[in-house]
Amino acid sequence: MASTHSNLDPAQADLKALKGKIPLIGLTGGIGSGKTAVSNLLGELGAGVIDTDLISHQITAPGGEAIPMIAKAFGDDFIDSQGALIRSKMRTLVFEDIKARELLEQITHPLIQQETVKQAMKLAKSGVPYLVFVVPLLIESGSWVKVIDYLVVIDCPEESQIQRVMHRNNMTRVEVENILKAQTSRNTRLAAANSVIENEGKLDELKSAASKLHQQLLKI
Ligand code: ATP
Repeated sequence: MASTHSNLDPAQADLKALKGKIPLIGLTGGIGSGKTAVSNLLGELGAGVIDTDLISHQITAPGGEAIPMIAKAFGDDFIDSQGALIRSKMRTLVFEDIKARELLEQITHPLIQQETVKQAMKLAKSGVPYLVFVVPLLIESGSWVKVIDYLVVIDCPEESQIQRVMHRNNMTRVEVENILKAQTSRNTRLAAANSVIENEGKLDELKSAASKLHQQLLKI
C-alpha cells in the first residue's frame, strides 16, 4: 500500500546511529516510476536494499503481523480466504476516508518501522558499501528526509507511469490518475533530488543508468 507511507517515522534514533558509518541513500519516485526495478539492479550490484513497500506487503500477506489487527479494526471483510489483506478494497477505503487511512497507518507504520531498522542493522553489519531505503512517499515524510544522506529520485513522464501501472495492476486510468494526484508533484520530487535516474527508455538503458549510479554511490 505505497500510498499510505506519508507519516512513516523510520525510528530515527536507531537509523541515525548508522550515520557516518555507512552511507544512507533514500530512493523514491512516483507510483510505477521504476523504484523496484532500480533497487533490484542496485541490489544485484551489491547494495544493501531495504524496501519499505515490500515490507508493507509482507506484513499484510497471509500470516503477516498486521493481519490480526487489521481484521479487528476494519472487519474480516478486508481479509481474503488465504488470510491476506484485500489491497484493492483497502485502497478504495483509505482514498475516501482519511480516518481509515490514519487507523491503517497506526497499525502498519510501527511494524514497517521495526522491520526497516532490523534489516538496516543486519545489512550494515554484513559489510555492504551503502544502504538504499526504498520509500514511495519519502518526500512527503519529513522524518525520512532527516535520516538519509543522499536522495535518488526515479523519474519518468506521468503518461509512462499511468501506462505501466494500468498494465501491471489491472487498474483504470482514472484510478492511477487519482493516486498520482495524491502524491507529491514531479517537480517537487526533482527539486529535492541529489541524483535523478531517468526511466523513460528501455529496461537495458535503466540497467546502465543503475550501474553508473552504483559507481557514484560507492564514492559517497
Ligand atoms: P510502485 O510505486 O507502484 O511500487 P515502482 O516505482 O516500484 O512502482 P516498478 O515496479 O519498478 O515501479 O515498475 C513499474 C512497472 O513498470 C513494472 O511492471 C516494471 O516492470 C515496469 N517498468 C519499469 N521500468 C520500465 C521500463 N524502463 N520499460 C518498461 N517497463 C518498465
